[in-house]
Amino acid sequence: MDNTADAIIIGGGIIGCATGYYLTKKGLKVYLFEKDYLTAGSTGRCIGGIRQQFSTELSIRVAMESVKKFKELQEEYDIEFYQGGYLFLAHTEEMVTTYKKLIALQKSSGLDVEFVDVKQITEIVPGINTRDLLGGVYCQSDGQANPFLVVDAYAQRIKSRGGVFTASEITGLNIEKDRVVSVKTQDNKVYYAPIVVNTTGPFIKKFSAQFGLNIPIYPERHEALITEPVERFFDPMIVDYRDDGCYFNQKFNNGSIIGCYTPKPNVPGLDLGSSFLFLKEMGRRMARLMPKLRNLKIIRQWSGSYSMTPDGNPILDHTDINGLYIVGGMCGHGFMLGPEIGWLTSQFITGTGVPYDLSSFSLTRDFSDREVMR
Ligand SMILES: Cc1cc2nc3c(=O)[nH]c(=O)nc-3n(C[C@H](O)[C@H](O)[C@H](O)COP(=O)(O)OP(=O)(O)OC[C@H]3O[C@@H](n4cnc5c(N)ncnc54)[C@H](O)[C@@H]3O)c2cc1C
Repeated sequence: MDNTADAIIIGGGIIGCATGYYLTKKGLKVYLFEKDYLTAGSTGRCIGGIRQQFSTELSIRVAMESVKKFKELQEEYDIEFYQGGYLFLAHTEEMVTTYKKLIALQKSSGLDVEFVDVKQITEIVPGINTRDLLGGVYCQSDGQANPFLVVDAYAQRIKSRGGVFTASEITGLNIEKDRVVSVKTQDNKVYYAPIVVNTTGPFIKKFSAQFGLNIPIYPERHEALITEPVERFFDPMIVDYRDDGCYFNQKFNNGSIIGCYTPKPNVPGLDLGSSFLFLKEMGRRMARLMPKLRNLKIIRQWSGSYSMTPDGNPILDHTDINGLYIVGGMCGHGFMLGPEIGWLTSQFITGTGVPYDLSSFSLTRDFSDREVMR
């Protein structure tokens, strides 16, 4: 293996691997470096949900294009992509109003999404608790896929022209005259490329600080759990955005129920510990929404990082160091947006045309607007 590539990617999560896949498809020789194993970061800890319901035109479009790319990938590899939908529940009039407003925007972007009443909800999810429920928003073409299989599929393509190096931490960048020329691994090996993409997820801020870059990406801990497998009895990801809500779906491959909630207050930092509070609370919240889950056994709990930006949108941009790009800050959406973000990054880097305005993903944007469906 020689030490020169057309592009080097740092980080073996969905964003790095999707970027590498699309650069490879363009004929570039890509080297990808991962400090642990592929999916060791947030990607292997996510629950695999894929939705297109967002509150800005750009996010909706990126998510819709991502779904097309998941579909295409499913034709090449079995990634367990399944369009079982997403169902957002409304328990207050305020949520009903917000969702109805968002539906108008989503529909104008071409998304097939509808407001459903309580009776329709009980048909979509038999056995759901209708107490305080006023309705919901349902998008049938949302769904799920297996993050491990998606990353593996992308990595296979990268390896076909370049290389994927695991247990290979990048500890330094060599910068000459404001241009990145090479990267250095923990065992002092040097690899050269004119393009280096930092996709280190929750580590982007810390990694970039070494080179004087201040990137507004802040890791937060999110916990998750999975139950024993049972016969499949519901399709969509059920999302309850109440303060003590949660979200979960049933895995297409084996029928396990997988889910999490957004902790309030948030838990900043890189700590990946698991708490008894989450185990107890998540069980309670799931059983409240779906009483028949009450006797299911939880077989595993874990945690991972959300890489948050101040406005809830990703960052996809070049830096002040020529040849060095940052792609991250995916918040809770990196898996679902990953395929399109990877493709957009490959277009952006190679100057082959980006079909829409990416200024809302730029490093120098005004971060004060906020994505509502965070
Ligand atoms: C509990 C939970 C549930 C989630 N559920 C969903 C969901 O349903 N749908 C969804 O879309 N998103 C979900 N997410 C969010 C999603 O997981 C992330 O947005 C996404 O995985 C981010 O991918 P990434 O490639 O940017 O980062 P990561 O997957 O974290 O990849 C970064 C990689 O870089 C590596 N790395 C770091 N530093 C170095 C270095 N110096 N050298 C080499 N390698 C390095 C890390 O080891 C890591 O593997 C969830 C997240 C959590 C925690």
